[in-house]
Amino acid sequence: MIRKKTLRDIDVKGKKVLVRVDYNVPLDSKGEVADDTRIRATLPTLRYLISQEAKTILISHLGRPKGKIDPAVKLDPIARALSSLLGQEVKKVDKTVTEEVKEVVNNLKGGEVLLLENVRFNPGEATNDPNFARQLADLADIYVNDAFGTAHRAHASTVGVTAFLPSVAGFLLEEELRNLSQLLEAPAAPFCAVLGGNKVSDKIGVIKNFLGLVDCLILGGGMCFTFLKAGGFSIGDSIIQEDFLKEAEFLIEKASKDKCRILLPDDVVIAKEISSEAEFKVVEVKDGIPNGWRGLDIGPRTAEKYSEIIRNAKTVFWNGPMGVFEIEAFSNGTRQICQALAANQGVTIVGGGDSDAALRRFASKDQVTFVSTGGGACLKFLEGTPLPGVEALDNKE
Ligand code: AMP
Repeated sequence: MIRKKTLRDIDVKGKKVLVRVDYNVPLDSKGEVADDTRIRATLPTLRYLISQEAKTILISHLGRPKGKIDPAVKLDPIARALSSLLGQEVKKVDKTVTEEVKEVVNNLKGGEVLLLENVRFNPGEATNDPNFARQLADLADIYVNDAFGTAHRAHASTVGVTAFLPSVAGFLLEEELRNLSQLLEAPAAPFCAVLGGNKVSDKIGVIKNFLGLVDCLILGGGMCFTFLKAGGFSIGDSIIQEDFLKEAEFLIEKASKDKCRILLPDDVVIAKEISSEAEFKVVEVKDGIPNGWRGLDIGPRTAEKYSEIIRNAKTVFWNGPMGVFEIEAFSNGTRQICQALAANQGVTIVGGGDSDAALRRFASKDQVTFVSTGGGACLKFLEGTPLPGVEALDNKE
């Protein structure tokens, strides 16, 4: 259970409450919100604050404007999307911490919601500048962090501000921590982790931490080719992170000592290029991938084998597609993983934007226990690394 105070532990009635949310959502070609998952995920916190007649001041980033104003990532479309989800007007200002903003804040009535401009337009945000953090804190009486997706960053709006205000977790942050903690604390066995996607570098910390925890570590996606090469197989032109070959070799060896099975594909779908027009075929990994060809999905036999393990596990964590699932010819592995997760009756937890998108395409989010709204933050947490945005909040007595 979380050691940090939450919204339930503090009186917010009629107070000015600064809420850090993560509305870093994709926009469509017209600049409107293309996927509102992260906005919807904060509604329980916002509805609670509205019911308490609090004056809610929302702060978020969008994109990477690097301390400068960038009109392409202003938060106006977010205010429109949130207004329609909440069924009430969300006010929006074009600045973050100026005197005009203070005035708007001081004129808020109980139950009203205000969205400040993109916090990353301010250079002091990413450097965690104490002066900027103080200016943010001056807007409110209480700080709530509901931005799980940004909790791994020590920025002014996630860490600095907590030095000046009573600081608690929102309901989304609490739910994320509760669900992800059960993977590290008392996962029911057999516990199986399924890791895919492109970059070994993003997942290596989780692999290390999971070796002593899981019964089985299933690897797929682009990153499995670094492990296959480390295991002595020919991988042709498949994607590889050479810098991690030694580490992959070490982990395969360590896994056998820790009595954890690391599973790698037995067969793969290969093509000469990543394209929906490309010719493709299935080859056995032991026969090697010819030069000029690259592995773009796990093969059908591997997908079957992985699915059976996933269906029968008591706890499953999945992050990262098994192949280039955006293209039909290379999507079977990821589809089968999604369907196996959906059929599993135990605890099934999914993290990462691509896995979330795949799950929605090939099954449904309702068929798993929990889908994390954080990609990087979720992996950092599962590495066992404390998240600065969580650590900075007030402890429960
Ligand atoms: P990541 O951000 O590391 O989770 O990687 C996700 C991306 O990895 C997706 O866009 C997939 O298309 C891509 N991907 C998965 N498998 C492969 C592969 N075998 N080769 C190249 N890219 C892949």
